[in-house]
Amino acid sequence: MSHTTNPSYVTRLMKERGFSTKKRFGQNFLIDQNIVERIISCANLQAHEWALEIGPGLGALTVHLARQAAHVLAMEIDTSLVAILKDTVAGPKATIWEGDALGANWGELLQEAGWQGQPLKLVANLPYYLTTPLVMKALESDLPFTSMVVMVQKEVATRMLASPGSKDVGVLSFAVQYYATGRLALNVPRTVFLPAPAVDSAVVELTLRPPTIDAPRDALFAVIRAGFGQRRKTLRNSLKPLLEEWGLEPEDLDQAFQKIDLDPQTRAERLSLEDFSALTKELLKGV
Ligand code: SAM
Repeated sequence: MSHTTNPSYVTRLMKERGFSTKKRFGQNFLIDQNIVERIISCANLQAHEWALEIGPGLGALTVHLARQAAHVLAMEIDTSLVAILKDTVAGPKATIWEGDALGANWGELLQEAGWQGQPLKLVANLPYYLTTPLVMKALESDLPFTSMVVMVQKEVATRMLASPGSKDVGVLSFAVQYYATGRLALNVPRTVFLPAPAVDSAVVELTLRPPTIDAPRDALFAVIRAGFGQRRKTLRNSLKPLLEEWGLEPEDLDQAFQKIDLDPQTRAERLSLEDFSALTKELLKGV
């Protein structure tokens, strides 16, 4: 058993260091070695690969990532945790960086840690208050991630993996579909964390691949975001502000819908990624 998940080690370490968990940073530490091992085995790190971790906490995942990968760069916002990690986990194969992962330039930090473009895997038990922006940042990063294994709130896992037509589908689901093939790797009960969060969790595995969609990325996601901006409205209405921004008229939208054989009265959640791509390309013709 690795000591970092041993509840008595965790409680003793926190007591010795005068550390108490902070709700505002989404601190729920993993205290179940079985779950840690399943996450690590899902990441399947090879000796030449680098791991990027967001929110190492007390290092439950970090120690394993350092053991298996060429190197792990772990980004932690909490100064007191960074002090503990520097004493317990940092080493030739583990760099601890202190700061806000959302605002950080990951490519620069990796290079400073010695990364030279090796394949990357994101492995993290994410702080739940920032899950969506962090997953979006990772997907949009242009870094050579081959996979992402992330623990998220169960509802977010459902949204990440939702299919068109489902009530849970949204921008996050389309971002996942655009960049990756996703699967639910593991359901995780709240009892394996200290303190136990108010929600259940799930581990999602995303296997990155080149996009299969040919509409320009930024325009495509502008259309998807606008479509879901007011998800109860028809697409004809929800896309209005974007049309104005692009200098298009409502008739252009009607024409585009006609061309690709879609009903403008439909709602964003009914469309597939391919529909959004076709719609974007039609609209761009008029810009
Ligand atoms: N990985 C540890 C584990 O599994 O036991 C801790 C996971 S805990 C759910 C989330 C961690 O993210 C905490 O250590 C928290 O301090 C850290 N965190 C919160 N916001 C952050 C941010 N903006 N940037 C980097 N780390 C952050």
